[in-house]
Amino acid sequence: MRKPIIAGNWKMHKTAGEAVALAGELQALTKAATAVELVICPPFTALAAVAGVVAGSAIGLGAQNMHWEDQGAFTGEVSPGMVKDIGCTHVIIGHSERRQYFAETDQTVNLKVKAACKAGLTPILCVGETLAERESGATEQVVGGQTNSGLAGLTAEQVAKLVIAYEPVWAIGTGRTASAADANAVCAFIRSTVAAGFGQTAAGQVRIQYGGSVKPDNIAELMAKPDIDGALVGGASLEAGSFSKLVKF
Ligand code: PGA
Repeated sequence: MRKPIIAGNWKMHKTAGEAVALAGELQALTKAATAVELVICPPFTALAAVAGVVAGSAIGLGAQNMHWEDQGAFTGEVSPGMVKDIGCTHVIIGHSERRQYFAETDQTVNLKVKAACKAGLTPILCVGETLAERESGATEQVVGGQTNSGLAGLTAEQVAKLVIAYEPVWAIGTGRTASAADANAVCAFIRSTVAAGFGQTAAGQVRIQYGGSVKPDNIAELMAKPDIDGALVGGASLEAGSFSKLVKF
């Protein structure tokens, strides 16, 4: 009953021209993939141009970050309204690279998730443990904490409509994927955390992606698991051939 959602996180790759070319190729290759929701997240500088390519198609457009304030003296930042206005439907919030390199905290992540919902954008809230946290047995504590604080103050209806991406930090860009069983176990734990905070209806509807070295050759096994509702994909989303294969799991 939950429609799988596959999102491509292009990170700091592609000029506007390269992004338009990739979006065009993807659109041609994924037209028939109606059973899956597709979202692409180019860098800010390519959003306007890519919005023109995907307009009217089934491909959603996401930003990779944004500020939570409507406007103001915040040099270098982009507001929720600006992201929405340029044609975005989605926004990635709290990616581990932002938490690690750009000092994002559970508090700023929560402000951004709330601002995204208010602006009519679908947040893709990223959570996940580091290798040291996993090895010390703290995965549930970390992921549960990030989920609860990320969603704090939202209504059950808002939570039901958003997307959570479980991305173990040790699996991102490393070629080291969590086993499908391990990934599903944490996604199921996230769903039970949502159920405890927002009720069974929201938990049954919220979509939970797995992310971390997802490739055409491991997507089928991951997607076969009951609590994994899609994928957040970095490296394999940068090329139309590999990304279009991911929607045919
Ligand atoms: P990866 O990145 O697929 O290259 O591991 C995933 C992500 O960071 O969202």
